[in-house]
Amino acid sequence: MKKFFACFAFASLFSSSLFAAPIEVLKIERFDGAKFMGTDFIPAKYRISLQVNWQKNSGYAREQLLEDIRYGMSLYRQCDLALEELVVVDFETKKRLEEMDNKFRKNKKLVNKLPHLLEGPTVYFVRDLEAFGKKKDKYHYTKPSAYAFSAKEVRKDEERKPLLNSTWFAAKELMDPKYWKGRDRSYSVIAHELGHLLFNDGHFKGVKNLMAARVGNLNSFIPPALCQKLLDSPLIQ
Ligand SMILES: [Zn+2]
Repeated sequence: MKKFFACFAFASLFSSSLFAAPIEVLKIERFDGAKFMGTDFIPAKYRISLQVNWQKNSGYAREQLLEDIRYGMSLYRQCDLALEELVVVDFETKKRLEEMDNKFRKNKKLVNKLPHLLEGPTVYFVRDLEAFGKKKDKYHYTKPSAYAFSAKEVRKDEERKPLLNSTWFAAKELMDPKYWKGRDRSYSVIAHELGHLLFNDGHFKGVKNLMAARVGNLNSFIPPALCQKLLDSPLIQ
């Protein structure tokens, strides 16, 4: 009898740790781009569709995120680019998947497990990101607010291939009031990271603009030279 109980206890432990889904899709919602943008919509020459994967346990409010996407996309009117379709996937994860790792293993896990419903960039909104960066000639772990895997970026490292055209945002960092310190309020981090994917490039120097590297130089302006790069983007319809 004792043996039976021991077995039973083992089996239930086994099933909860190994068989419980670590990633659960809660809801999939599709929006027509024009309806989603509302008064911010204008017909444009170029169109883009976007999938947003929102981690419910990221702590970032879904309504706020949708508002941020609406604002970020409105900035692309400067490039004659409009939102065609938006798909929002609400998902929940186990605790250990709340924070991404610096080797991007957890990022890849999410990319593999979540449905891929559209051609175009995928926005992942998670609780926390981690990266390994260089600061003052020293390598150390950092907590970035966001990062993007453009074609140019992915080419540097074969391991990153599954992350192509995905962009990642950390709720924890973006909810911190310190995030806006020295930042122009017209700036959009979502538009900036999408810019890395759409323009397939790093930062744009010379004038204050959306793709500037330095916090103090960031604003909502998209230089025409960057908009020109959309012509080469496979992400544009
Ligand atoms: Zn950047």
